[in-house]
Amino acid sequence: MTQMIEMPRVQSCTVSACSYNHNGCTAYAITIGSSTSAECDTFYDSLEKGGQGKALAQVGACKRADCVHNTDLECHAPAIVVGESGDKADCLTYDKK
Ligand code: SF4
Repeated sequence: MTQMIEMPRVQSCTVSACSYNHNGCTAYAITIGSSTSAECDTFYDSLEKGGQGKALAQVGACKRADCVHNTDLECHAPAIVVGESGDKADCLTYDKK
């Protein structure tokens, strides 16, 4: 039997320069983090537009192992907020252990 696992919701994303942002993140799932920052890896600054049409994105994976919400490189926060950081996008819910 397959077990359904709920992924954390992207509650809001204000990074309007991203190809997936149409009044919020419309990617199906996003990847957060590198070993040094909580940046959104899915952020794409391009004239090409994408997404599934609805702002229902979830966090598929997160590489920010030192966040209190991270276990085994997966996010277990109920939801996250993404916002601008320089010319990129960051997970603003990141909280260092
Ligand atoms: S809250 Fe923490 S674990 Fe969840 S996506 Fe953001 S940085 Fe990763």
